[in-house]
Amino acid sequence: SDHNLHYPLSPAHMDWSPHYPAYINPDPTQKTLSGTPKLLKDVEVVDIGCGFGGLLVGLSPILPDTLMVGMEIRVSVLDYVRTRIHVLRVRQQQLKLGITPEAAEETQTTTESAPEEEAGTLTSLVPGNYENITGIRANTMKFLPNFFARGQLSKIFVCFPDPHFKARKHKARIISDTLNAEYAFVLRPGGKLYSITDVEEYHHWILRHFIVQDGEDISAGSSKLLWERVEGNELEEDPCVKLMASETEESKKVTRNNGNKYVAVFRRKEDPEW
Ligand code: SAM
Repeated sequence: SDHNLHYPLSPAHMDWSPHYPAYINPDPTQKTLSGTPKLLKDVEVVDIGCGFGGLLVGLSPILPDTLMVGMEIRVSVLDYVRTRIHVLRVRQQQLKLGITPEAAEETQTTTESAPEEEAGTLTSLVPGNYENITGIRANTMKFLPNFFARGQLSKIFVCFPDPHFKARKHKARIISDTLNAEYAFVLRPGGKLYSITDVEEYHHWILRHFIVQDGEDISAGSSKLLWERVEGNELEEDPCVKLMASETEESKKVTRNNGNKYVAVFRRKEDPEW
């Protein structure tokens, strides 16, 4: 339950340093409001309900200078993501040091201790593959603005969100009027929200929640006015769209079952003058 969730008082209090040790600001006077080391750059990409982390692992080499985080509510799934990233980082360091996978296996240095224990102990950390991704446990329906400041993010991914088919469960969907206003708040103008689902009805729900429908009468303050759909070449040529449709664990399952995949990407427009 939410009782066990840790979330910062504000984005300026968030301690990202254990998550991205290669990006810690070497100037010790640079501290967050909670007194912890600051990073050299802000987290910019969020995978909401990241599951087992396939998208993050795919994105890491494609956006090598961008800090990305997966947010996941299930403890065991998040543990898996953290261990997966830790192992990838260790392998990467070993490769740089010229240690072969076979030699590493013999000394069994990769999987014995928890990510938290070893994250800070690796020598000569350099930014690069897998140092730029992490996972945190969070209920993104509640605490997103505690983690990210206004306009901090350049991309948000919502991949195969739980469908909550029954109408009375629709309030549990992570696409809604309220949450879209939050996504618009943390996403910078020009930033994009990527969505993919195998449930056609949810795809239409997503479209209805971002784009003003023909004949729809909306109030001036509606967050729908903040979005436009990305289509055509821009969509087809975006490597993130390809990854989202092929690298997440859920997308692989849908492929195996010959299911459909419905993609919708929205750009955060400039703030209108209300
Ligand atoms: N995105 C992943 C993929 O494509 O493989 C996982 C998709 S899975 C169907 C949906 C995930 O969202 C689950 O792992 C679930 O635990 C997580 N989730 C659901 N509600 C959430 C919330 N409010 N905050 C964070 N994660 C949530």
